[in-house]
Amino acid sequence: MNIVVTGGAGFIGSAFVRLLCKEHPEDTIIVFDKLTYAGNVNNLRRVQSSIEFVQGDICSGADLENLFLKYDVHAVVHFAAESHVDRSIINPGAFVQTNVYGTQMLLHAAKKADVEKYVQVSTDEVYGSLGETGLFTEQSPLEPNSPYSASKAGADLLARAYYETYGMNINITRCSNNYGPYHFPEKLIPLMVTNALQNKSLPIYGDGKQIRDWLHVDDHCRGINLVLRTGQPGEVYNIGGRNERTNEEIVRRIVQTLGVSEELITHVEDRLGHDFRYAIDATKIERELGWKAMYTFNEGLAETIDWYIQNKEWWQDVLSGTYRRRSL
Ligand code: NAD
Repeated sequence: MNIVVTGGAGFIGSAFVRLLCKEHPEDTIIVFDKLTYAGNVNNLRRVQSSIEFVQGDICSGADLENLFLKYDVHAVVHFAAESHVDRSIINPGAFVQTNVYGTQMLLHAAKKADVEKYVQVSTDEVYGSLGETGLFTEQSPLEPNSPYSASKAGADLLARAYYETYGMNINITRCSNNYGPYHFPEKLIPLMVTNALQNKSLPIYGDGKQIRDWLHVDDHCRGINLVLRTGQPGEVYNIGGRNERTNEEIVRRIVQTLGVSEELITHVEDRLGHDFRYAIDATKIERELGWKAMYTFNEGLAETIDWYIQNKEWWQDVLSGTYRRRSL
């Protein structure tokens, strides 16, 4: 199969590319990425000789046309997005542009090229926020609360429309919070780990009681790969770890693992419209596609923290901005 992976230089997209290179050497992987601040070619260094890399923008008709003219593409897995909620609160327009308009441009180019399969990688945040109880199922209404999640919900609805209207073979995956290596240090876990390693303060939003359902990035990618190969046309699949933790608990665990002072923890003003709780019911993908998370949270977090200790050069390159000058 010739598979286009959009956003393949980002955190999850690059994990997916590394997984495919390991488990499906028979496939040709074409990474299509604009290399925004979140794209980092160092994430692909290990597999660079096994992939094709195209720098391009999903919002550009010309870039997409060139991509689909150059390669006989069988499948598209769409990760490319603006992905940070805080940035969406400051600049919502950029999120609509990339996540909604860009997704429509990509869908249209993929339809024109007659691709056999298109996977839209989405998030549990499109379902909004839960109270103390309950889980998001694929039937939960879309009630996004941030400009980020609203733009992702818009993209999901466009993907659905391309299935309903044009009969494209489309799946949507909705996953909970990911963690793991190569995670950009603006997100909770890598921010806290890299700050702790530099003896800097560890800022927690509000009271830190917000609950997230954490999943190792490699378990997420195994789920997407199953959906790509065995998902039924038009179906949505939730992917989640059944692993709910408060933000405060996550930060305290990092502090304990690294043996730094608890006094580094500070509480800062809460994020606007901060969702209280996300939790995924992953029964459908487990039963129908045989997916199962392989990592326990304890081993996954310990391994991730260790990765940041062993790979200082990677994150120091990001913090200094040097990574943006590198090429593949
Ligand atoms: P990321 O921000 O690390 O990476 C995004 C990638 O997309 C970058 O490589 C960037 O250069 C690229 N990109 C951005 N705009 C582009 C454009 N216009 N054209 C081409 N490429 C562009 O994101 P991530 O955390 O790896 O998330 C990947 C996907 O998974 C996103 O769609 C996100 O919504 C979804 N998701 C993320 C999580 C999570 O916990 N991080 C959970 C569930 C779903």
